[in-house]
Amino acid sequence: MNERTETIVALDNECVASTYARAPFVLDHGKGAELWDTEGRRYLDFGAGIAVNTFGACDEAFTAAVTEQLAKLAHASNLYYTEPAARLAGMLAARTGCRKTFFCNSGAEANECAIKTARKYSFDKYGPDRNRIVTLVDSFHGRTVTTLSATGQDVFHQWFQPFTEGFAYAKANDFEETKTHLDGRVSAVMMELIQGEGGMRVLDKTYVRQVADYCREHDVLLIVDEVQTGNGRTGTLYLYEQYGIEPDLVTTAKGLGGGLPIGACMMFDKTRDVLTPGTHGSTFGGNPVACAGACSVIGRLDEPFFASVRKKGAYLRERLTALGLDVSGEGLMLGAGGVDAKAVSAECAARGLLVLTAKTKLRFLPPLNITAEQLDEGIAILASVIGRN
Ligand code: PLP
Repeated sequence: MNERTETIVALDNECVASTYARAPFVLDHGKGAELWDTEGRRYLDFGAGIAVNTFGACDEAFTAAVTEQLAKLAHASNLYYTEPAARLAGMLAARTGCRKTFFCNSGAEANECAIKTARKYSFDKYGPDRNRIVTLVDSFHGRTVTTLSATGQDVFHQWFQPFTEGFAYAKANDFEETKTHLDGRVSAVMMELIQGEGGMRVLDKTYVRQVADYCREHDVLLIVDEVQTGNGRTGTLYLYEQYGIEPDLVTTAKGLGGGLPIGACMMFDKTRDVLTPGTHGSTFGGNPVACAGACSVIGRLDEPFFASVRKKGAYLRERLTALGLDVSGEGLMLGAGGVDAKAVSAECAARGLLVLTAKTKLRFLPPLNITAEQLDEGIAILASVIGRN
């Protein structure tokens, strides 16, 4: 390690909260799907900062949009109108049919907003007792106390008691079991269509449609968490489009920001006017710089681009399958089982390829503009690490 690297690592270890098990290098700069550390080592990026860097590092259009706004007005409070948030909300409305969007700063906050909106919708219409929210076993919805409660994994339900009440966990892809949780106390069902953190598990279309039909018939709101699946990642703007369902609330974050922190809770017909002045808010929500960056991202996610994501995703899937891996996912959100994911990921990093894990699987979330050559280069590194060709 050079002196700069050593200083950064020592300072971080001493002064940054110890919530992350960091890889043993310091990322310094990048371009597209290539990153360099402070030792000058190059990495191919198959993780995109966990699905955030939609157009990779230092994308020119993104940087221009952000810096132009930065030079005009970095922040104003939500007491005043600003142009980027209005433009972004308008773009999301035009593209999805949502009626309004609440902006915040992260996926967890977007889900917090959806949970509050669902509960208030039910409160306004049916009183305080119809407040339960059904989520799925192995889901992941965030790290706030309430979104941890929403997360259907016991491992997250420790240390921080008391957790927020009112959540029940249904078995994904088992409608009969799910129905046992759907009684008259339920205000909403919330799900990811691919459980990313939970192990790259894809939900069945039939199951999701059965749940959506039940929700519509019983005025139970359907919340789709597209924090990881959204913003072109799976080959459509949002994954729910591929399921032929009409959610009442869609949350997103990660790739929407393209590198800056932003979260969004999109509200459709039923939910558009549930939140009123004073019922919710966020100091940084709708930040002009983050919204200008997000406008630049959303503005470039068109059908030809989605077709390229689907094509690259199909290619990556084929190559991973040919390596004998058990592949799941959609578009450029793929998981691969059949190896010791943690050990393989660490060895890949040592050989210049950044690959994520999700439970026991390897997880691939490259920048959506990664090139075919870069995919090939990364696959070759992976193949050498796992000793298969
Ligand atoms: N929901 C899903 C599906 C996620 O994958 C994540 C993060 O991985 C979150 C919510 C939480 O997002 P954030 O870390 O931005 O709060």
